[in-house]
Amino acid sequence: MDNEVTLESLTADEMRMITSDWDTTNRRRFELIEKKTSGSITPEQGVELAHLQKLVGVIRSEGLRPFVEKLTSAQTCEKARRLYNTLEGCGNDLAPYSWQWLKDHLESCESCRTKIQLPS
Ligand SMILES: [Zn+2]
Repeated sequence: MDNEVTLESLTADEMRMITSDWDTTNRRRFELIEKKTSGSITPEQGVELAHLQKLVGVIRSEGLRPFVEKLTSAQTCEKARRLYNTLEGCGNDLAPYSWQWLKDHLESCESCRTKIQLPS
C-alpha cells in the first residue's frame, strides 16, 4: 500500500514543489519533522510529511540528476557559504532549519563539501 513515487507519477504541482518551490517545500518538511520529533504532529500533518519525504526520495533517486543540480545552483551555494560564515564567524548557532538545510546541501553538493567543514 506504500506506493513508490516516481518521476512519471509526479503531478505538475509536485514537480513544482521539488524544483522552483523547493526551498518552501523543504522548509515545510523540516517544520513537520520538528513537530514529529516533539510529538505535536497531527495525523493530517503526518500524512503531509510522508508525502514530502517521498518527494525527497524522488529528488535523490539516480534518475533525477538535473533536479539535484538545480538544487546546487550557484545561488544555492552562495546561501550555503553565507550560513557557514555565520556559523564560523560569530559562533552563532544556526536555526535548526538552516542547519539541516546546510547539511542537506553539503550532502548533494560536492563543490561545497570541499570548502565547508561542518563541526561535528
Ligand atoms: Zn554548493
